[in-house]
Amino acid sequence: KKISIAIDGPAGAGKSTVAKKVANELGFLYIDTGAMYRALTLKAINENIDLHDEDQLNKCLLRNPIQFEIDQHIQRVKIGTTDVTEAIRTPEITKQVSLVASHAKVRETMVELQRRLAKEGSVVMDGRDIGTNVLPNAELKIFLTASIEERAHRRYLEMTKNGYEIKLEQIVEEIELRDKKDQERTVAPLKQAKDAILIDTSQLSIEQVVDVILSLARE
Ligand code: C5P
Repeated sequence: KKISIAIDGPAGAGKSTVAKKVANELGFLYIDTGAMYRALTLKAINENIDLHDEDQLNKCLLRNPIQFEIDQHIQRVKIGTTDVTEAIRTPEITKQVSLVASHAKVRETMVELQRRLAKEGSVVMDGRDIGTNVLPNAELKIFLTASIEERAHRRYLEMTKNGYEIKLEQIVEEIELRDKKDQERTVAPLKQAKDAILIDTSQLSIEQVVDVILSLARE
């Protein structure tokens, strides 16, 4: 039987790190839905598409399929023929992605693709609307959060490690603004599913969070 695990939550709660490890342990496919919205945002910027224009964005997505590939144990993201794995992590994309993700047509196409991926095998899928909208029948739903201070601090460490010069206060602002946009949009807003298990990761290590989810998955 194909099993789906949905992991949702606000920016910087540790979703992708945790989801990747859980998927690895269980031998499931990991699907990073945020990467899909980021890939479209990058492609649209490169094609000079107005990010308010949902028809153009959706056409761009339909012209340029998104694919995940594994290369030397690292998951790569492609849109059309371009590998965008690293390019989608820049502050510019992070800033614009919530606008792109707010459009109903774009989300419809993305969700269809995400559901198709989940039919291919057992998956761990992370995002904002996986438990509420993409995979409402997922066998296990997790909602990961952490305090804003903790989330900003983690993002800060990650970004400075990758060579970005950025202030902590700036990250706090960026995260709060992005969460607000994701929570207030009309289509599939960021929200904990009724049957999701809430895990606050503020005081937990990555390994502890992974262990909690693995034991829930093995029940
Ligand atoms: O998870 P990540 O930070 O990469 O997600 C980037 C953005 O993509 C989110 O802030 C949100 O606007 C959008 N997103 C979404 N629905 C998802 C995953 C991501 O709207 N399932």
